[in-house]
Amino acid sequence: MKEFQFTIPQDVIFGKGSFDRLPEILEKLNCKIVLLVSDPGLQKVGLVDRATKLIREAGIQCFEFLDIQANPTVHNVNEAVKAFNECGAESIIALGGGGPMDVAKATGLIATHGGTVIDYVGLEKVPGPVVPMVAIPTTAGTGSEVTASSVITDSETKFKMTVISRYLIPSYALLDPDLIMTLPAGIAAACGVDSFIHAMEAYLSKMGNPFTDAMAEKAMELIGGNIRQFVASRDNAEAACNMMVGSNLAGVAFASALLGNIHAMSHPISGFFGVAHGVANAILMPTIVEYNALADNGRYRKIYDYVTLGKKSDDSFTPDMLVGELRRLNQDLGIPDSLSAVGVTEDKIPEMVTDAMKSGNILRNPRQSTGKDVEMLYRKAL
Ligand SMILES: [Zn+2]
Repeated sequence: MKEFQFTIPQDVIFGKGSFDRLPEILEKLNCKIVLLVSDPGLQKVGLVDRATKLIREAGIQCFEFLDIQANPTVHNVNEAVKAFNECGAESIIALGGGGPMDVAKATGLIATHGGTVIDYVGLEKVPGPVVPMVAIPTTAGTGSEVTASSVITDSETKFKMTVISRYLIPSYALLDPDLIMTLPAGIAAACGVDSFIHAMEAYLSKMGNPFTDAMAEKAMELIGGNIRQFVASRDNAEAACNMMVGSNLAGVAFASALLGNIHAMSHPISGFFGVAHGVANAILMPTIVEYNALADNGRYRKIYDYVTLGKKSDDSFTPDMLVGELRRLNQDLGIPDSLSAVGVTEDKIPEMVTDAMKSGNILRNPRQSTGKDVEMLYRKAL
């Protein structure tokens, strides 16, 4: 067994209706002025107003920043920092899926330490703590409420820059399953598969350890066992609870173990073609799991048992059975079966390979991969 260190430097609060505990958390943080970072979609469904009303009724000033693109940009962050400074906020609430979380983390970083996102790209370049953050996920999910990373797109080069620092981990993760029970089916499906991939890539990662394995296994059990029912009926409360906790555990696992080729290769797809993160990952999943089969040390069989609809595996199990099961999962959930189906074109493959190879996740993938391998995988998934 390799040496490892495992830390969860935050409070995770779970419960149906726990959204109402937001003022209580802000009071614990001694916060009198807060910036709420969210997006126009969540304003439309009334969640932003619900949050601001709740906070203001508790005597805390609340300002909103909602101008965020699906794949947030450096410009979005700079505008959010301006809003943060103008209102004199002392902490940040991130309410949403991955986009608002990424912007909130980067905003806290720049508001505290100055400069621009580009200055902090990479591993542990943040010099110290940032303003306290409360993260409230509205999908299940990115796991971003417990992770150390913020992904921001450079609009000119289309490169998705990742800042990874333990200082970006929000102080509180507030998990209220009620918030995901009105999600559209397509978003529930894409985010749900993405969270399964977080657990699976962490489980297969070269940086995994017994703590992250335990988290990843439980995450795969909860997500694999509930994703179909949840996408079928988002008002299924039990399925929503299991998806929310599963997504969070997957986030804890990959915050330490990091990910693999699926995430390394999906970021350029979203950067160049604007494909939603979860959709890009889900499409790549069967192709890369097939490629990684050569490195399997018996874990594929366990993953299969978490995701299979049919009977559990026996000694006749072969890795292609997992690949087939993951294809079936995508199919059942209405996920397209090729990159070309979501508008990805061959001409960008060389640039996408270059960007994918810059990702630290390539190094954690169970099978070593060169640029040529990554190019072959893009072509195969096309
Ligand atoms: Zn992801």
